[in-house]
Amino acid sequence: MPQSLFAPLALMPEGWARDVRLVFEEGRIATVALNAAPRPGDNVLAGRALIPAPSNLHSHTFQRAMAGMTERRGPTPDSFWTWRRLMYKFLDHLTPDQVEAIAAFAFVEMLEAGYAAVAEFHYLHHQPGGGAYDNIAEMSERITAAASTAGIGLTLLPVLYTYGGTEAAPLGEGQLRFGCDLDRFLTLASAAPRLGPDGVIGSAPHSLRATTPEDLRALIASGVPGPRHIHAAEQMEEVTRIEAWLGTRPVDYLLSEIGLDSRWCVIHATHMTETETRELAISGAVAGLCPITEASLGDGIFNGPEYILSGGSFGLGTDSNIQIGLAAELRQLEYSQRLRDRARNVLAPAGTSTGMALWRGALQGGARALGRDTGEIRAGAWADLLTLDREHASLMSLDDGQLIDGFIFTEPRGAIRDVWSAGRHVVREGRHSARGTVEENWRRTMTALRALI
Ligand code: ZN
Repeated sequence: MPQSLFAPLALMPEGWARDVRLVFEEGRIATVALNAAPRPGDNVLAGRALIPAPSNLHSHTFQRAMAGMTERRGPTPDSFWTWRRLMYKFLDHLTPDQVEAIAAFAFVEMLEAGYAAVAEFHYLHHQPGGGAYDNIAEMSERITAAASTAGIGLTLLPVLYTYGGTEAAPLGEGQLRFGCDLDRFLTLASAAPRLGPDGVIGSAPHSLRATTPEDLRALIASGVPGPRHIHAAEQMEEVTRIEAWLGTRPVDYLLSEIGLDSRWCVIHATHMTETETRELAISGAVAGLCPITEASLGDGIFNGPEYILSGGSFGLGTDSNIQIGLAAELRQLEYSQRLRDRARNVLAPAGTSTGMALWRGALQGGARALGRDTGEIRAGAWADLLTLDREHASLMSLDDGQLIDGFIFTEPRGAIRDVWSAGRHVVREGRHSARGTVEENWRRTMTALRALI
C-alpha cells in the first residue's frame, strides 16, 4: 500500500518549501510535488515541519548498557584506557539474548532521537574465552534481529579485530570475544544474516592497532562489499604508537599506504596534522565524528574549520551511546569548536545558519558512510524522515531559516513528533511504537546484569 504525506513545510535540497506532497512506495520516496494540495487519505502533517532524518554512522550498541557506570574517579588518573578496561570487564558477561535486548533498546532510542538508520560497528562476535558460537554469526544475527524489531535502517559492519595492539601484539583477555584472523573474519562476514530491503553490509577493520598492513590489504583484496570503516587517531597514545611502528601517523598511513576514497569512513580522526586534515578532506572519505563520546572519553577536538574549508565530508556517530541525542551530538560538535577557538558559529560558511550547515553535513556524510540512498527529500531515496513540532513553544517564534538552529541549540523537549525509516512510521507523537516491550526487555536484562557486575 503506498503511503502519502502532505507537509505544509518541508526541507528540500534547495531549501524550505510549502505544501509538499510525498508518496512512498516500498520504503522509497516515489513522487514529490511542491505547491500541492492534500488529497483524501494523505497523512496531513499540520503544524509540523518535515525534514530528512540523518543516519548515525557509528555505534557499539552493547556499550549503551554501561552508560553512567564509568563516571567515578579511580585511584589513578582516568583516561580512555582505564574506561576501556572497565568496558572489557563488562562485556565478559553479555549473552546473545542480552546483546539483542540492549541493541533493540538503543535502536529505539536512536529512532526517537531522530536517527533513521545506523551503522553498527560490530565486534562482539564470540563466546567468553573466544570460542565461536555454533553459528559463527550468532551475534550478527542478534544485531539484525534487534534492528528489525526497532525498524531502524541497518548498515552492519562486522569487525576484523585480530591483535591486542600495535606490532601484532596478542589479544588480551578482555579482547578474546572480538578475535578473528582474516580467514575467520571472512567466514563470519559471509555467514552474516540476510538484512531487510534497506539493509547494507560492509566491513570494519577495527583500527591500525588491531590489524596489520598486510591483513588490511588482504581484506581489501578479498572483495568484501560495501562501505569500510576504521577507527583512527582517537587518542594521542595511539598516534605515537602507530608512528613508532609504521613510521608515520595513522591517518597519513591510511591515506598514503592504504588509499582512502568515498567507500571509507575514518572514525574520530581527532588528532591530525593540517596536511592530514586537508588530504583526508579531499580523499572523499567521511570523517566519522562522535562528539559526545569523544568528550566523554577525553579524546580531543576535531579540526573542523580546516577540514570543512577543504571540502571535507563528515557525519555523526553515537559511538559509546552514553547519550543518544541528535541535537545534543550536533551541539557538542559546534560547542567544542567554539570553546577551543573562542569564537561563535565556527562550522558554518559565512552568512549561513550553523544548524543548517551541521544538519546538511550530517545528512550527506551519514548517507555516504552507510552506503544508503538517503539524506534528502528526493524521488528514489529511502523515506528517512522526521517531523518537528513547528508550533512548539520554543520554535513558534523562529522563522523557517532559524528552525534547525532552534532545534539543535535549544533542544525543545518533545519537538520530534514522527520518524520514518525507509517508510516505516516507527515514531508517532514522539514515542516509538515498540517502546513498551523493548523497554521491558531492557529492564529485565539490566537487572540481571547488575546482579553480576
Ligand atoms: Zn567506536
